[in-house]
Amino acid sequence: MKKTISVVVPCFNESGSLCHFVDRFRPLLSRHPGYAFELVFVNDGSTDDTFAHIRALAAAESWVKGINLTRNFGKEAALTAGLDYAHSDAVVFMDADLQHPPEVVSDFIARWEQGHDVVVGHRVSRETDSRAYRMLANVFYRISNRISDVKLSEHEGDFRLIDRKVADKLRQLRENRRFMKGLFAWVGYEPVFVEYEVGRRFNGVSSFNTWRSWNFALEGITSFSTVPLRIWSYLGGLVLLIGLGYLLVIVLQAILYGVVTPGYVTLLAAVVGFSGVLMIGIGILGEYIGRIYMEVKQRPTYLVKEMVSNPLETAQAAE
Ligand code: UDP
Ligand code: MG
Repeated sequence: MKKTISVVVPCFNESGSLCHFVDRFRPLLSRHPGYAFELVFVNDGSTDDTFAHIRALAAAESWVKGINLTRNFGKEAALTAGLDYAHSDAVVFMDADLQHPPEVVSDFIARWEQGHDVVVGHRVSRETDSRAYRMLANVFYRISNRISDVKLSEHEGDFRLIDRKVADKLRQLRENRRFMKGLFAWVGYEPVFVEYEVGRRFNGVSSFNTWRSWNFALEGITSFSTVPLRIWSYLGGLVLLIGLGYLLVIVLQAILYGVVTPGYVTLLAAVVGFSGVLMIGIGILGEYIGRIYMEVKQRPTYLVKEMVSNPLETAQAAE
């Protein structure tokens, strides 16, 4: 029996790219005749006719299949939907906009055949991102790597291949709010890297604007670290010590020299400064409590409206 490979592609308003994606991917089928490929497009609540395109492609090509989510759940949820529905020997995750070149999947497969369970795409340059974005991303990775259990690299994205056993482990993590990059790293397994050049977006614009990227970064840090919560007790302790020390100085001054300084400005500065610090502390608590709230409700990560074509499963059922 042929080994099976599922390629999970999350799509949000990608109607302009899908046909080109399939055309660029098709040569891989003849290049790797020993494998049964399955292309799983996950329509993440697109507002254009993306799913109509997926439906047409699935009808025309037996190796293409589509999952239609009930609304936009976000890329992480769409990747999770693909992961849950793929039962193949290996799962590849890649973007629909051709920023992840399909040809690189050949190299992924070669490395997988050598026995590596996780093959990760390593971007050689981030020319497609602006300077400011790259700088901020750099700061995020530095902070995150310092305070989180998992180590992330700015050169790695979701573009990767994982073996069935890794996919099964990954599926055991049922948290609702998912930062896939962190989850990939969390399950462990030594990755090997394949270098690739990030392409330009084929069509349309990126859905990750500055605000969305910032929230994504917050998600990444709060999902994998509780350091932001814990620093407050240390900060509080430090402030208490300084305050007590200062008080002692004033009292001694009053006893020894009888000086009672007005201290009005000092007081004001202290009130303003510490209120600010307290507000930040409460804000950080809020970030975590909000996430706990979302998590305890145990709503599913995504909902599926319909699926089109199911070549691998039908083939397996027939055997
Ligand atoms: N995407 C998605 N749901 C969303 C936003 C994006 O499934 O809510 C998909 C999108 O169609 C693409 C991939 O995620 O295949 C990466 O998105 P995009 O190109 O907008 O982000 P960037 O490449 O700038 O990180
Ligand atoms: Mg993109």
